Amino acid sequence: MQTSVNIHPDNQPEGHEGAGFFATTLDKAVGLARANSLWPLPFATSCCGIEFMATMASTYDLARFGSERLSFSPRQADLLMVMGTISKKMAPVLRQVYEQMAEPKWVLSMGACASSGGIFDTYSVLQGIDRVIPVDVYIPGCPPRPEQVLDGILKIQELAKNEGTKRRQTPEYQAKLAAYGLE
Ligand code: SF4
Repeated sequence: MQTSVNIHPDNQPEGHEGAGFFATTLDKAVGLARANSLWPLPFATSCCGIEFMATMASTYDLARFGSERLSFSPRQADLLMVMGTISKKMAPVLRQVYEQMAEPKWVLSMGACASSGGIFDTYSVLQGIDRVIPVDVYIPGCPPRPEQVLDGILKIQELAKNEGTKRRQTPEYQAKLAAYGLE
């Protein structure tokens, strides 16, 4: 007797399906793969980094979102997570790390310090990492809770899923890079 099995994975992209086949566009397939296999580079300089460690641990378990493989080498990472106070001395280092990452890449700014300098409105602290590199998603808070970090990751996943394989060649993206003096 023949039995039929219906499989409906979560986050299945739009497409056409029938008995034994599913077809979708290349953009959607690539976006799905990218979104669910983000390799974060944790650029953690202070207390927000501790909150990120909690996000990686068993209770919140970032591995559920395909991002458990951290990379401390920019060349093997596609999600730069900046967490903590960035001093002006550190800014060129952060920018160099960003430049060493291959496309496609995304940037997540976690917490008040990385996003705006936080309470440290002083001569030595960078008042937001978007002064030196483009940021895709900001997470507010001091420190943000792990749920907020997960929410930020989900937003990055949405970007990765929907931006298409050609976004990085679009005039808008090129202009954004040019505004930062990046190629
Ligand atoms: S935002 Fe708050 S918790 Fe995060 S690095 Fe700054 S002071 Fe620490």
